[in-house]
Amino acid sequence: MSAPAPADAALSLRAVGKNYGRIRALDGLDLVVPRGSVFGLVGPNGAGKTTTFSIVCGWLRANRGEVDVLGEGAFDPARHRGRVTALPQDSALGRDMTVVEQLTHLGRLQGLGARETREEVERILALVDLTDRARDRVRTLSHGMLRRVGIGQAFLGDPELVLLDEPTNGLDPRQAHTIREFIAAQRGTRTIVVSSHNLHEIETVCDHVALIDRGRVVMAGPVSAVTGRDDEVRITLAEGPVPLTETRAALAGDTAEWDEADRVLTLRFQEKPGRAAEDVTGAALRALLAGGARVSSVARGQSLERTYLELPALPPEQKP
Ligand code: ATP
Repeated sequence: MSAPAPADAALSLRAVGKNYGRIRALDGLDLVVPRGSVFGLVGPNGAGKTTTFSIVCGWLRANRGEVDVLGEGAFDPARHRGRVTALPQDSALGRDMTVVEQLTHLGRLQGLGARETREEVERILALVDLTDRARDRVRTLSHGMLRRVGIGQAFLGDPELVLLDEPTNGLDPRQAHTIREFIAAQRGTRTIVVSSHNLHEIETVCDHVALIDRGRVVMAGPVSAVTGRDDEVRITLAEGPVPLTETRAALAGDTAEWDEADRVLTLRFQEKPGRAAEDVTGAALRALLAGGARVSSVARGQSLERTYLELPALPPEQKP
């Protein structure tokens, strides 16, 4: 018998497999989403993100493995209705309904009472900035507005787990920014899983991330750990001297790796009492400047985009 899902997990998938005929969409996917986190799911086209969402929401059944939603087993409408909501990649809305009718209908389907639904719909319309289009028919909305109705319906009521498949896809920059801020502000109040190809978005909005490829998780953890922000500082130098020996001598055991092509010096350290990242960075910068180096930039860790691009490709024998 396998170990139970961690008690603090909102979502746990173990060794989940899903085939569409001969296509292996999920190939032993392991994922633990901590309660209260904003969790990013990142991966190339066809990696299995939408399939994962569909299985969590009960729209599809896995062929193998275990899925535990809110610590209560696989999705079951009787247990999870209204507590787990989703913005699908292509949300199907009733095109002849008005926006307010659509949201009201969905609120009632979730089990909200008439008055509660009215209040919720007003709150959601303001959130997604569609109050002035509330009486318009869904078919008359632009693509970005439709997306915003979809995001709004995912937050109707008080869901504990919200799955958002590419939420800001097609939104203008201002709306995308508003939605990102809203999602980030939900941290700690509910669990949100966001899939996106926008790695900057995942990095700014999420506290945890899983990188998936060909139906498997290839890297996962807190964003700060995955991007090395916890234990890495990158110093970029302009043309000029690189006093490596002196800098390494100043680091008292921590390492400094020089990349000549990118002219980046990567400091790797372990924070200890009395020696924080700032102390290590300061020691390295003093040695570099004393040796005549010209510092262009200093950054904690590397961007999620770079982490993603540097991931080794899966070996061919693991190809589905
Ligand atoms: P994208 O980033 O392009 O949205 P994704 O990570 O969401 O991709 P999925 O849509 O889950 O990936 O697809 C995973 C794999 O399963 C792909 O190889 C895809 O072609 C296949 N697949 C998905 N849905 C179906 C389906 N209904 N029938 C057959 N194959 C499917």
